[in-house]
Amino acid sequence: MTASTTRVRFAPSPTGGLHLGGVRTALFNYLFAHKNKGQFILRIEDTDQGRFVPGAEQYIINCLDWCGISPDEGPHKEGAYGPYRQSERKSSYRKYAEQLIEQGHAYYAFDTPEDLEKMREAFRSDANPSPQYDSKVRMQMNNSLILHGEKVAELINQGTPYVVRIKMPASTEVTFQDMIRGEITFNTDQVDDKVLLKADGMPTYHLAVVVDDHEMKISHAFRGEEWLPSAPVHVLLWDYLGWKDQMPEWAHLPLILKPDGQGKLSKRDGDRLGFPVFAMDWQDPKSNELTKGFKEMGFLPEAFINMLAMLGWNDGSGEEIFNLEQLIERFSIERIHKGGAKFDFEKAKWFNQEWIKRSDTARLLPLVQEILVKNNIHASEEALTDIIPMVKERCQLLNDFVAQVSYFFNDPVQIDLASVQPKWDEKKKLFFEGWTTTLEQIETWDATAIENTFKEAAALAQIKPGELQLPLRIMLVGAKFGPTVFDIAFRIGKEATTRRIGHCLTLLAQ
Ligand code: GLU
Repeated sequence: MTASTTRVRFAPSPTGGLHLGGVRTALFNYLFAHKNKGQFILRIEDTDQGRFVPGAEQYIINCLDWCGISPDEGPHKEGAYGPYRQSERKSSYRKYAEQLIEQGHAYYAFDTPEDLEKMREAFRSDANPSPQYDSKVRMQMNNSLILHGEKVAELINQGTPYVVRIKMPASTEVTFQDMIRGEITFNTDQVDDKVLLKADGMPTYHLAVVVDDHEMKISHAFRGEEWLPSAPVHVLLWDYLGWKDQMPEWAHLPLILKPDGQGKLSKRDGDRLGFPVFAMDWQDPKSNELTKGFKEMGFLPEAFINMLAMLGWNDGSGEEIFNLEQLIERFSIERIHKGGAKFDFEKAKWFNQEWIKRSDTARLLPLVQEILVKNNIHASEEALTDIIPMVKERCQLLNDFVAQVSYFFNDPVQIDLASVQPKWDEKKKLFFEGWTTTLEQIETWDATAIENTFKEAAALAQIKPGELQLPLRIMLVGAKFGPTVFDIAFRIGKEATTRRIGHCLTLLAQ
């Protein structure tokens, strides 16, 4: 059997927290690679030294691990195509920039920031409010297209700062196939002479993405829709460098939009609307600012990736709940939507609740235990194995287990007496006093025995049991939730049950 030639890459820049759009790109790469028995590569695009953030690379790797979509090759897992950090590949880019210059497809540009500002002022007009460095202006600038070869060599030898720019052909149509959008055509007049190599010798994204995709034998490139306008530059570079036949197939993924559909979802939207946008907690090393992640908000990774897969894709069956294996099996690029996908946090929580319901106790136990310990609730494995199935349907987030489990172990601190007081009277007080005495005498403490005595006492007091259940729930739980009250009483034991009832009777008497 010949090995699959499918090689895809997730190529984030290590500039901070990993946005859910980034995770979705990684997920689609992963699904496609696994579906085609290919390789999924992580490439760290760290050529912008100004935006580099220490710790961000390891954080990205941790996020992918948490999601269960770890790459086959990357800086953490060397393969045959390394290094996997662009900063470590610096030496390979220059020769291609020089090759492009020799072929007449690129040029040295010595313009200073002041020169560029002057150009923008001189060419600004109503029709062209932000002039670009392109075929219309390049012959009036300070570059190797107009300077003599000797002068260019002299400037370079003197150490004059320069960049290398692509020479975009004038008024040419560049056409390529996008796996999601079909045939796409750009006119080169819409695109400026992008910088390929920066003054610090580092490549820009435009050069690096082409060189690396080629050297790493990438077969399909998934990236955000925001890169579509740069695609003609990349297509031309593949052509100029003589690699056109090996160009990966492109897929520009739809944006993830704000809940109201008005523009791309940003971290600020999350801060403003109170939901996470990053996969995991991210602490900025400079400002120390901590941004909450889906993991720490209490999402199961199964739910997180299921929800992400459905943002811009579905399998056409109307089904929504898929595990990773099912996603691999059903994934197809043809079913990725062209339009942006609105993010809906309520829907994200719905996915999580569905996954909590479907997860067995063995899966939930360690996660719940970790959250409980953080909240100072110490519960034995045995007790939790019993309680988790009773309460899990009520949890949207793993953190909801704190409220749903804590009253099994600790007397409630907050007691919602306001829900009891309006209908509280002497008759009910006498009922609870009397029933407490009965409870103390129960020999076999189980839910049925507790319920039977409750019903008998209610009948004797001539009160509907329904009217007594809410006060009992508030006494035991502190609030209006939880499984059947008799199951709770059974689990917390006789002593805690009578103590909590007694405590509330005292509070209600005040
Ligand atoms: N470094 C680019 C980004 O973070 C990668 C785009 C691509 O996948 O080609 O968006």
